[in-house]
Amino acid sequence: AQLDVLDLAVLAVLLAGTVAYFTKGTYWGISKASQVSPSSSATGPIKGATRDVIEKMQETGKDCVIFYASQTGTAEDYASRLAKEGHSRFGLNTMVADLEDYDYDTLDTFPSNKIAMFVLATYGEGEPTDNAVEFYEFITGEDVTFSDPDDSEAPLHNMKYVTFGLGNNTYEHYNAMVRRVDLALQKLGANRIGTAGEGDDGAGTMEEDFLAWKEPMWLALAEAMGLEEREAVYEPVFKVTEREDLTAEADNVYLGEPNKNHLEGLSKGPYNAHNPFIAPIAESRELFTAKDRNCLHMDIEISGSNLSYQTGDHLAVWPTNSGKEVNRFLEVLGLTSRSHTVIAVKSLDATAKVPFPTPTTYDAAASYYLEICGTVSRQFVASIAPFAPTDTAKAEMTKLGNDKDYFHERVAEKYLNIAQVLEKVEKSQKWTGIPFSIFIEGLHRIQPRYYSISSSSLVQKNKVSITAVVESSQISGSPEMLKGVTTNYLLALKQKQHGDPNPDPHGLSYAITGPRNKYDGIHVPVHIRHSNFKLPSDPSKPIVMIGPGTGVAPFRAFVQERAEQAKAGENVGKCVLFFGCRRKTEDFLYQNEWEEYKKALGDNFIFVTAFSRDGPEKVYVQHRLREHAQLIDALLQDRGYFYVCGDAAHMAREVNSTLAEIIAKQRNINEAQAEDIVKTMRARNRYQEDVW
Ligand code: FAD
Repeated sequence: AQLDVLDLAVLAVLLAGTVAYFTKGTYWGISKASQVSPSSSATGPIKGATRDVIEKMQETGKDCVIFYASQTGTAEDYASRLAKEGHSRFGLNTMVADLEDYDYDTLDTFPSNKIAMFVLATYGEGEPTDNAVEFYEFITGEDVTFSDPDDSEAPLHNMKYVTFGLGNNTYEHYNAMVRRVDLALQKLGANRIGTAGEGDDGAGTMEEDFLAWKEPMWLALAEAMGLEEREAVYEPVFKVTEREDLTAEADNVYLGEPNKNHLEGLSKGPYNAHNPFIAPIAESRELFTAKDRNCLHMDIEISGSNLSYQTGDHLAVWPTNSGKEVNRFLEVLGLTSRSHTVIAVKSLDATAKVPFPTPTTYDAAASYYLEICGTVSRQFVASIAPFAPTDTAKAEMTKLGNDKDYFHERVAEKYLNIAQVLEKVEKSQKWTGIPFSIFIEGLHRIQPRYYSISSSSLVQKNKVSITAVVESSQISGSPEMLKGVTTNYLLALKQKQHGDPNPDPHGLSYAITGPRNKYDGIHVPVHIRHSNFKLPSDPSKPIVMIGPGTGVAPFRAFVQERAEQAKAGENVGKCVLFFGCRRKTEDFLYQNEWEEYKKALGDNFIFVTAFSRDGPEKVYVQHRLREHAQLIDALLQDRGYFYVCGDAAHMAREVNSTLAEIIAKQRNINEAQAEDIVKTMRARNRYQEDVW
């Protein structure tokens, strides 16, 4: 009889002793801090795996390692693409490495005939991503020490490396992570090959920046390492086997469960980015009165989970794809009749981790594990072209893959997901020739989405509130709507909670009760992400908060907290909140609550509104800021804190320059001096942003 894959996995571990990871770990693995279980299953790193990357490369015969620092999965995706390309075009033996999985004190022994690549996203205010904090601190540290210190040469003189950064020019510290790491590596004597690439999400050119950077990089690398280009052939990274001996009902088949604990029904903590808590939704309601737009308020129960939060933290919600998109994906691939067929996914490369638990089914992979609705890259389309069902479809896919403008017009501008692209290119014939491994390699695994917690932990310790606007917009020139994955899922949960047996917001339906009905009774998988966006520890310090739209979320928490402190007789400083929305009668969030807080805080709460569509002129929060220039400046001079939350692209930037303008005028100094004051406030944490 055929061995069960889990048995095989266990055997492999016993034989090899150390086989690193079977999954990509970030979501289905167990963090370093919690390597307690789930034994050595297909769901987590294996205890004892080496943290020495050079040893790992030697063990597995690799000559190129691509490290990634990723928050939302894009950097990780680019790293995988570089790995594949390096192998298929240049015969490099490549491996992708999560920065969190290794230590760095042996980098000084990095061999000169190997290459390290760093694909590094910058997060928030020029910070490293969560998985790169330790690496960043190590490499940029004042006195970085390696395991084999040799004073005669720069420690990394043997190391050749390339870098690409993912950033957003609307943030002050654009691509700070890659710039600082690049500098640090050079300071340590490492030799960069090619230019340090930078992609700009703010300008919407990330993908094209990446593509434009990587071609000359490959040429420079080929020259530096004496590589020869060869005809690229697709080699799957994963072996996907249909398991006819197993049915979807079998106990060991993952139908969407995040990891083995969940599969076995023993969901247990610690709950974190690798292990979500299936949380009951205590209450859900809508906050807008407008018919065509929805904004949700949800109270999510965390009691009994051992999860805790502090005012200003984020809640991460683990989404489910809509039935409509799952069906479209399976249909176009000709998998509808086999959607519940059990598949076992095995990595063909010891360093590549299967990004979800296995065995599973096509339906579960599309519903719970893969980001099937996300942005499609040109490179991904090109990689599918050879497997098109007809010559015409193949030619069209090749054209889309090669022609930047054509791709932009036909795919990017229309926000098509991968199944929509395939449907558009060829609908009458199914795309049955595409190896499923391509999707596992090419689509991100589904990412949790973050929400700024809109409750105070002082007031509701065990109940986390979120305030989420539902993404739904008409795509210009297309009958399709762009529908946010998570927010429509949450809307469906809200509708179900309010008695709709089969909710289908915007024509979408969801597997609301989750795998094996484990989310029944209105539950949602979540974890908490701690943030630095915090109230001053001294409640008597004044605070100025700018939060238009859902940017008001954390400020509801701040004001709630200060009102509670005031009720308890504490000396509470002035709280000034600038809120903006379209119309007073449509999208005025928490309109009645502010009055309650006012009762508790009295004159210490000043609430300023800007309704952009209620009057003849559009009024935004920045305009209101100018009108209250004197008050703001006085509060800031009185050791006040300034907070901005919401839209990063426009609002946060404009608020920043408006504040500098205000300071310049009020203090009678020039703009450059005022900008320096704002910078110093940021450096001292007296100007904090929570923007997206
Ligand atoms: P998604 O499916 O992720 O789509 C979001 C956007 O991605 C779309 O509008 C579109 O621009 C793009 N997109 C999606 N699919 C495609 C495609 N196929 N092609 C091209 N583009 C595509 N939101 C809130 O409402 N409230 C909050 O308090 C809040 N706090 C946040 C705090 C932080 C730190 C961060 C990072 C984000 C926060 N957000 C908040 C935003 C939130 O995390 C989600 O991004 C948002 O709710 C949309 O999620 P979604 O899954 O519904 O949409």
